[in-house]
Amino acid sequence: MAAIAPLSLLRNCAASTARTFVSVKPACIVSSTTLFPLPHLSRRLQFHARATNNEEAAARAAAVNADSGAPTIFDKIIAKEIPSSIVYEDEKVLAFRDINPEAPVHVLIIPKFRDGLTQLGKAEARHGEILGQLLYAAKMVAEKEGILDGFRVVINNGPEACQSVYHLHLHVLGGRQMKWPPG
Ligand code: 5GP
Repeated sequence: MAAIAPLSLLRNCAASTARTFVSVKPACIVSSTTLFPLPHLSRRLQFHARATNNEEAAARAAAVNADSGAPTIFDKIIAKEIPSSIVYEDEKVLAFRDINPEAPVHVLIIPKFRDGLTQLGKAEARHGEILGQLLYAAKMVAEKEGILDGFRVVINNGPEACQSVYHLHLHVLGGRQMKWPPG
């Protein structure tokens, strides 16, 4: 039986170039029972294992075209071609709620102009100012969302960190007790 991928992944696929679409599509719809039968695990753990494997597969697929310069779903969000729940916006950065939240507060903060920043690992000295602005925006978002006393800022960089969108973004997470170490 095929497991349907989260809406966000399907949207990412739809927003990709034709070349990206071909390589990403197999990760979007997978046969979870075929790939991950895991009979020895509880249903909850099986679900977690499948979700994790799907995320990892999607991240590996997304990484194939990371350096192609192809637009991502975030370009459509910046252009307001697709809706998003905007939390904060200025000339340089945009903050909007994650479509698939991992915490009561889960906001993504992105530079409006990508300027080669597909991922943090591509940062150069000239990006110092925007990187600082993104981090400061994270504080402003946390303040606005009422989580200034406890929040986490995450940047997933590359497939091993499960990055799935190649437009630099900060995750601001909060509103619940965070665990450490992260997975
Ligand atoms: P990454 O895995 O690259 O660190 O994070 C990408 C994030 O973008 C994911 O948490 C995912 O849920 C989110 N995302 C993907 N597509 C959309 C979308 O269309 N709208 C919104 N608001 N978030 C999205």
